Amino acid sequence: MRTYAIPLVPGPTTVPAEIRAAYQEDYGSADLEPEYYELYAETQEQLRAILGTRNAVVIMTGEAMVVLWGALRSTLRPGDRVVAVATGVFGHGIADMARRIGAEVEVVGFDYDEAADPQRVEEAIRRVRPKMVTMVHCETPSGILNPVAEVGALVDRYEVPLFYVDAVSSAAGVPLRVDEWRIDLCLVGTQKCLSALPDLGIVTVSERAWEIVREVDYAGYDALGPFRTALEDRWFPYTPSWHALAALNVACRRVLGEGLENVFRRHEEVAAYCRERLKAMGLRLFPRREEWSSPTVTAVYVPEDLPWPELDRRLRARGMVVGGSLGPLAGKVFRIGHMGAQADPELVRRGMDALEEVLAEARR
Ligand SMILES: *Cc1c(COP(=O)(O)O)cnc(C)c1O
Repeated sequence: MRTYAIPLVPGPTTVPAEIRAAYQEDYGSADLEPEYYELYAETQEQLRAILGTRNAVVIMTGEAMVVLWGALRSTLRPGDRVVAVATGVFGHGIADMARRIGAEVEVVGFDYDEAADPQRVEEAIRRVRPKMVTMVHCETPSGILNPVAEVGALVDRYEVPLFYVDAVSSAAGVPLRVDEWRIDLCLVGTQKCLSALPDLGIVTVSERAWEIVREVDYAGYDALGPFRTALEDRWFPYTPSWHALAALNVACRRVLGEGLENVFRRHEEVAAYCRERLKAMGLRLFPRREEWSSPTVTAVYVPEDLPWPELDRRLRARGMVVGGSLGPLAGKVFRIGHMGAQADPELVRRGMDALEEVLAEARR
């Protein structure tokens, strides 16, 4: 397997040595050792600080999708009404998932190159009176950051029982205030801004959400229910991954050690630098307005004179790997992931130099 000197994929991100080391330790059986429960409680506290919440934090084994599915299945029943805000692939994906559970889903859709407009969301909430509003904070395939705070204020004003927010590629990279923004279910993964392996799903759960979890009483590997009392009862529904939790703990310690404000500033600065360089190369950013761009990922149009497969091939030949895009943007847009460990000025500078050389070479 070839490795790349300039990894700029928007997740999974590169795993720093300090985090990788946590996977190499020997641990006992998580079910038996009090140290595991202490580590779990400590990691919950770290995540509360990062996510701005006093709510419960559930950490379960599996990739981020485990909590995206688990939180929906644990709170929705067939016939429940959902307003799904969709500005891209993940927003529509969550709407589909809710539909597959049998919910009646009203999609408030936007073009993929724009951020959600809270006014249109408000109209839908008033008309549908949903049990849940779903939204994606950072739409990773299109590099858009959505106005979660504004929609949260609407959710609160109209007393929508549940606000479900996919913050997988924004948490620990941009400000996120779960309690202030009235988020009931905030979904997070480990392989984006936290720069660990794709092995845990994280979800914050409000008191209101726990009540609904109890009513719905969903059973399954991804069910949230058993996690409500897992720590106090010293009983997890299946053997947890101590390695994954230890790595997450180190990842959180790094973020908090650097200081949240410093982490956010680093992401902003690296993103701004990346965009200036791209524009100077004559490339066009994908979001229709630059202020809609997420500080964690930059989506840019594939240049007309260099089709994506060829661009990708030439970048790889120089040791750089970026992301293509998904769904309707495949082949049209490519993405530079400057999140977590990759929000590194030196790394992004080298990446932009390599891209500039590739473009110059192709245009010669
Ligand atoms: C990465 C990501 C997920 C997890 O999805 P995968 O495709 O399995 O990596 C979910 N939501 C968002 C917004 C993401 O960026």
